[in-house]
Amino acid sequence: MAFIELKDIKKTYQLGKTQVPALKGVDLQVERGEFTVVMGPSGSGKTTLLNIIGLLDRADEGSSYRLDGEELGGRDFNEMAGLRNRKIGFIFQSFNLIPVLNVVENVEFPCLLRKEDRGILRKRVLTLAGDVGLEPYLHHKPDELSGGQRQRVAIARALATQPEIVLADEPTANLDSVTSEQILDLMQRLNESRGVTFLFSTHDPRIMKRARRVVRLADGKLVEGNGNGSSGAELPGQASAALEAR
Ligand code: ADP
Ligand code: MG
Repeated sequence: MAFIELKDIKKTYQLGKTQVPALKGVDLQVERGEFTVVMGPSGSGKTTLLNIIGLLDRADEGSSYRLDGEELGGRDFNEMAGLRNRKIGFIFQSFNLIPVLNVVENVEFPCLLRKEDRGILRKRVLTLAGDVGLEPYLHHKPDELSGGQRQRVAIARALATQPEIVLADEPTANLDSVTSEQILDLMQRLNESRGVTFLFSTHDPRIMKRARRVVRLADGKLVEGNGNGSSGAELPGQASAALEAR
């Protein structure tokens, strides 16, 4: 059984009297430690899918979401929040940093509610800040940083709680193409060195060329890269070659 197992995931939004089907039966399996890029045009359902995996939202009845063998489909929102806090890190398109906090404080922030030794936490945060290349900027506020640097803060913050899964919803949409590739490379490096499972969504086809595994969403359905990621059989050439080389 894969680490993340989605079976027949459907999600329909109610918009006034209209029903908007955002996901129309998605099957996806992700192994622990895998790095997966979810490609798809705007409106294809990327955010909806990541929100369901990240326990921010629930799929329709009849859908199955298993994480590490445990069915999460029927959980209530309180349980989902608890699981989310323990297991999931998020990275957003618009960075979502706290403007009055500096780099170290932003990275530390999601950990502060945990009863953790402050010295140990600070040490971990400084290591992370170094890993994402922010050592010279530890005391800068977000508005004193470039877009790429802000996203590096958000990456460090997502990892600070030591989650099992990091979800990055179009994290490069507000960055230029060179910076986007650097951010993707950084996340792939952290995925390798830390073994954290990453899902990264984008609508930028250039990102795809550098990604190890790509699954493609169109109009609420997975149209490519479906099924078991370890087989590599249905992947585009470059991504499957990279997978085999691992
Ligand atoms: P993407 O992230 O790929 O752009 P989304 O998951 O945001 O796609 O959206 C998928 C579809 O669901 C779109 O048609 C979108 O308009 C619709 N949608 C998303 N969120 C809502 C919502 N809260 N209410 C109604 N429709 C929504
Ligand atoms: Mg989106």
